[in-house]
Amino acid sequence: MTTHQGSCHCGAVKISYAAEIDGAMSCNCSHCRRKGYLLAFGPVEALSVEAEDGALSVYRFNKHVIDHHFCARCGCATHGVGVGPGGVKMAAVNVRCIPAIDLDALTITKVDGASY
Ligand SMILES: [Zn+2]
Repeated sequence: MTTHQGSCHCGAVKISYAAEIDGAMSCNCSHCRRKGYLLAFGPVEALSVEAEDGALSVYRFNKHVIDHHFCARCGCATHGVGVGPGGVKMAAVNVRCIPAIDLDALTITKVDGASY
């Protein structure tokens, strides 16, 4: 099991994600397309977050079921936490914030979130 280390650009928000990442989701919804997210989903227990005081901010919209976390200093959106189908709490990590991951090697699944 690999533990992936990621962060926002300024380093005030650090994430650690203990799950395999072999692909990511690219969604065209109004939010994802603007942030350029490439998201990998997994159990929330696999994600740990370390943030300097006041650095971790959150954006919610629509039904407010997902917490879209980002760094209040540099603006990078590192991860989200929400409740998935079946009521299970899920984490979504923005693989773009994990420098060791070769983005070109990932299988990208396109999701048509704009049509939902
Ligand atoms: Zn930052």
